[in-house]
Amino acid sequence: MSEYDVVIVGAGIIGLSTAYYIKKKNPKDRVLVIDKLNAAGQANTAKSASAFRCLFSSQTNYILTDSSVEFYRHLNDDLSLDLGLLWIGYLWLLDEESYKESVSILKSLGRNISYRVYESDELAEKLHMRTIFKNDEEAELMGLKDVCKGVFIPKAGVIDADSLVNFYEESFLRLGGEIRYGVNVEKLLVEPYEPLGIPGEPYFWQDSRVAGVKTDKGVIKAKKTVLAAGVWISQLLDALGVECYIKPKKRQLFVINADTPDLKKLLASKGFNNVGCIPFTILPKPDVYIRPFPDQGVFWAGYADEFPRAFKLEENPQPEKNFYQYGIYQVLVKYFPQFKDRRPSSAFAGLYGINTLDGQPVIFEEKDLIVVGGASGSGVMKADSMGRIAAALYNGEEYAVLYGDKKFKVSDLGLKNRRVEREKLII
Ligand SMILES: Cc1cc2nc3c(=O)[nH]c(=O)nc-3n(C[C@H](O)[C@H](O)[C@H](O)COP(=O)(O)OP(=O)(O)OC[C@H]3O[C@@H](n4cnc5c(N)ncnc54)[C@H](O)[C@@H]3O)c2cc1C
Repeated sequence: MSEYDVVIVGAGIIGLSTAYYIKKKNPKDRVLVIDKLNAAGQANTAKSASAFRCLFSSQTNYILTDSSVEFYRHLNDDLSLDLGLLWIGYLWLLDEESYKESVSILKSLGRNISYRVYESDELAEKLHMRTIFKNDEEAELMGLKDVCKGVFIPKAGVIDADSLVNFYEESFLRLGGEIRYGVNVEKLLVEPYEPLGIPGEPYFWQDSRVAGVKTDKGVIKAKKTVLAAGVWISQLLDALGVECYIKPKKRQLFVINADTPDLKKLLASKGFNNVGCIPFTILPKPDVYIRPFPDQGVFWAGYADEFPRAFKLEENPQPEKNFYQYGIYQVLVKYFPQFKDRRPSSAFAGLYGINTLDGQPVIFEEKDLIVVGGASGSGVMKADSMGRIAAALYNGEEYAVLYGDKKFKVSDLGLKNRRVEREKLII
């Protein structure tokens, strides 16, 4: 059995982006990607709302996203790859208090941030929405706040995650990379650097390393192992006593057809973007959001609940009817009466791989094992940067060069010398 230079566990968007940049930087290396599923991007990448924004309060988030999105723009516009990239923008509907907070954040960013503020009455007119809940006992009971302003960010939109996955997969294969699907990693293989042939080694006094993976199709040995297994990362790492601070949390999306004149009109709201549709819209706290699909005539509605939603690893998480009916719907219909009595035509659930330290990605190496994950609900919009940083780590480089020639210190996303700021603009 010949040894690979690197075996990458996970053919989601992060594993494939990492594989592509490792192979690109090291054309002679034998690079193998394996995944337990039968095709690329079929786990949580396929569950993504595939939205992106280039506005974050933390410099780290901003750089990771902005350079990834600029790369996607390059692929879409300069190389004519159809990635379904639509610059529909993000619209934050804010109550008075949240608006004050946002303004101070936007001012403090001090960069070339482009945004536009809409007044409450403009929004009511443009979107035919309710912005004021005078004498509405239900709204009061639910703690819903009046919309005081809307902040629109044009450098934001949606992309087709599947097309992006195809790009990384095909580009990697074209460079001579190998992929095997339907291969389940049962555990990471640990061996001493200097095997002595003692039964049960390595022992604690031996210097040991991750030497590959044990799978249901046999052992695969590699000089380096990359774990890009999304929410399954901690399962494989826990067995070795390695902490990565990545925990899974269920997230649900509900599909609502724009099948009434009012909903059709809302979907095709004019004046925000060149697409001629409602932007990705985030309602005031608790931050229910709607993601439009202008070409398919549907909305997706979602909400990322925290307390008391469990951290739980599930192979096939299910959407919960009541989560829509008594949760999302009740909030949505208050602001947008157009959704009255509309029920989802379908729904699905996936898992965020949340980094519980600070909600930013984790990329580190230990004992010849590189871990790349913890995208915390924004892996599609950060995948290109994360892949480049993981590849720089593989090559032992101090800095990764992101798209647009931006330098990023690799150790900033590590665990030992981590240097990231708390994100204040969280959805
Ligand atoms: C409902 C929802 C909405 C989202 N919306 C957005 C959004 O709007 N914008 C955005 O940027 N991000 C969004 N995300 C987050 C985004 O989808 C993820 O951050 C991203 O897909 C993570 O990619 P990944 O490659 O790390 O994980 P995955 O796509 O889950 O890939 C991991 C792969 O590892 C494989 N694997 C795991 N364990 C093993 C094993 N033992 N052996 C072999 N293979 C294994 C899996 O089969 C899988 O293919 C959303 C996520 C969800 C759930």
